[in-house]
Amino acid sequence: MGKCMIIGCGGVASVAIHKCCQNSEVFEGIMIASRTKSKCDALKEKLQPTTKTVIETAQVNADNVDELVVLINSYKPDVVLNLALPYQDLTIMDACLATKTHYVDTANYEPLDTAKFEYKWQWAYRERFEKAGITALLGSGFDPGVTGVFSAYAMKHQFDEINYIDILDCNGGDHGYPFATNFNPEINIREVSAKGSYIEDGKWVETEPMEIKRVYNFKGVGEKDMYLLHHEELESLALNIKGIKRIRFFMTFGQSYLTHLKCLENVGMTSIEPIMYEGKEIVPLQFLKAVLPDPASLGPRTVGKTNIGCIFRGKKDGKDKNYYLYNICDHQECYKEVGSQAISYTTGVPAMIGAMMIMTGTWKKAGVYNIEEFDPDPFMEALNKWGLPWEEDFDPTLVD
Ligand code: NDP
Repeated sequence: MGKCMIIGCGGVASVAIHKCCQNSEVFEGIMIASRTKSKCDALKEKLQPTTKTVIETAQVNADNVDELVVLINSYKPDVVLNLALPYQDLTIMDACLATKTHYVDTANYEPLDTAKFEYKWQWAYRERFEKAGITALLGSGFDPGVTGVFSAYAMKHQFDEINYIDILDCNGGDHGYPFATNFNPEINIREVSAKGSYIEDGKWVETEPMEIKRVYNFKGVGEKDMYLLHHEELESLALNIKGIKRIRFFMTFGQSYLTHLKCLENVGMTSIEPIMYEGKEIVPLQFLKAVLPDPASLGPRTVGKTNIGCIFRGKKDGKDKNYYLYNICDHQECYKEVGSQAISYTTGVPAMIGAMMIMTGTWKKAGVYNIEEFDPDPFMEALNKWGLPWEEDFDPTLVD
């Protein structure tokens, strides 16, 4: 069917690459292009004997638009799948515009010096992508990603209007370390140490970090503490889903994680303000990343399950209705299949599916779109097929 260039070769990219290789009818060729080429080569060496997909590798600095343009022009992919970091979103979008190539990512742009996730920078590309006749699909991971597809599916099939959405992200996995992050530590800590927020009656309501706590009994996992966080898909879902009065995002954290995080915060280790150390400028959070376990190394030691989904409350045929859509994913099953834990798996699978939707022309419109703006049905079908089957509950316990 076509060729895809995957930028980045970390935890999420590794899963997406495994999945592309399982799907060689669509992904006839992939190029893995990242900062450290040896990681790309190692993955090629492992996977090439197992797949018909032709794998190529390249070194690229995705902060540099010219370098990206040269590489894209030389490989001529149908889609660029950005699985580097959110800081690279805009340079990669610029390179896609210059080469008229479709763009897919899993996390919205964030400037290095402000820990604030917002779509405004990427939405500002709308007209240019429309004019170029290419698609940018934003947020094709799990959250954002599958949570948006779930919302579009609920809206299409279950409701006339959705008034309340609670997105619940539960990781019941245990890696045995007192403190480690399940994906890129810098991105993860920036996310959880920021103020919380949710949208109510069209306005953002801000909370202190971890101020709002609830306990929820998750199917497949059990009872967990969860905390309200700011999360990027709230912004787009509040605009794109009809009738929203309130939308919140909760993530589970264990006590050990929170105690360590508080301590690291108190001593200044989570700060993104550069400091001078022995004549050299360093960012404390980046230094912390260097001493924490590499998320990729957690795979073999993580046991337990994730349960991520959305509880919807709204109206159907004039009556109140509640509906919960979720996926349960087992860390060890993921490790057996692709050598990664469930956090990377639940992001990498939808990333591959998003790229597939664009490559096959199943999703086709020029411009910059969030995932819930497309027909959810083919994506929902692909989730079941490619390893993230979903479940429904028509009488869920609600979050107060
Ligand atoms: P990793 O840190 O494991 O991987 C990032 C990769 O990008 C690394 O291979 C890194 O190279 C590469 N990279 C970084 N900077 C550059 C650059 N300037 N040029 C080229 N390559 C670069 O991160 P994850 O795999 O955990 O996360 C990837 C993305 O997925 C992030 O944007 C994250 O926010 C997003 N994500 C989304 C989720 C969702 O559900 N929507 C959930 C989890 C993550 P090197 O190997 O040299 O370090």
